[in-house]
Amino acid sequence: MAVTRISFRDGGARKRVLVAGGAGFLGCHLSDRLIEAGHRVICLDNLSTGQSSNVEHLLGHPHFTFIAHDVVEPIPFMRRVDQIYNLACPASPPSYQKDPIQTLKTNCLGALNLLRFAQSNQARILQSSTSEVYGDPTVSPQPESYFGNVNTVGPRSCYDEGKRVVEALFREFRLQRGVSTRIARIFNTYGPRMSPQDGRVVSNFVVQALAGEDLTVYGDGSQTRSFCYVDDLVTGLMALMEAPDAVQDPVNLGNPCEFTILELARTVIDTLKAPSGIQFLDLPVD
Ligand code: NAD
Ligand code: UDP
Repeated sequence: MAVTRISFRDGGARKRVLVAGGAGFLGCHLSDRLIEAGHRVICLDNLSTGQSSNVEHLLGHPHFTFIAHDVVEPIPFMRRVDQIYNLACPASPPSYQKDPIQTLKTNCLGALNLLRFAQSNQARILQSSTSEVYGDPTVSPQPESYFGNVNTVGPRSCYDEGKRVVEALFREFRLQRGVSTRIARIFNTYGPRMSPQDGRVVSNFVVQALAGEDLTVYGDGSQTRSFCYVDDLVTGLMALMEAPDAVQDPVNLGNPCEFTILELARTVIDTLKAPSGIQFLDLPVD
């Protein structure tokens, strides 16, 4: 079926965009921005870690459709789409470790289903990969050319290895089947609508500080992360989606500045003027 392209604000065209995982933290912000830009968004989500409240404000919008669906199953029939963002995957360690086999299936089968759908729609598809493909890196900061230092059989493998397989799938669909692909290796991102139960460090610390509890620093807090504000990340995702075809290799997306976890804890306590102290706990495996 031919797509009707409507003449549009920026001289481009209104696109039909499928956002898998659109009710999650990143997905709902991306959906907002796509709608704001005038595109049509079809949000596909099984609400396993996402919240319907994240997209409640969009539900009556004429350019927004929500479809409850698990991407492990073939993608339901719908009108042709122009672009696909695959954000469907639990992102926080406690949530992806709750059902590791489902995490692997979501990554591998979900990406396969979406890639097939992209091929039949002749749509461009962007994968939300992760800095975790670098594992426990021996090189910091990690350039995209670094192959990583990964554990294939650790408690984080369902996520890290799942994402690595997906990157390989994307490469093969691009080379063997001509699908236009983009891969974003996303670094730790924070912002509004993160679940307070998410379990990652920024939300944990903020929730603990607001409750006046001690902040739980795992290990000695010298490990580093870069923290990206969600609006900036979404800008990066959309720019990568629109980037020319030469940009087919994975691209790191995140804040280029690194902070130790201890620095983050002190920043949160100072900013919120919280009475909290710091409790040092064992560093989790990997
Ligand atoms: P999130 O858990 O808030 O969102 C994931 C969404 O995917 C949720 O709405 C969930 O219900 C949905 N989902 C999970 N499994 C599904 C399935 N089988 N079928 C359909 N929907 C499913 O996580 P997030 O922080 O928004 O992360 C989005 C993507 O970005 C993930 O792929 C994650 O790996 C990647 N990423 C995020 C970060 C970050 O800091 N937030 C960092 C690196 C990578
Ligand atoms: N972390 C911590 N306290 C917490 C949660 C996490 O010290 O309450 C540490 C965690 O061990 C890791 C870093 O913060 O070294 C970032 O963890 P997070 O779970 O946010 O993300 P990821 O490890 O997936 O980057």
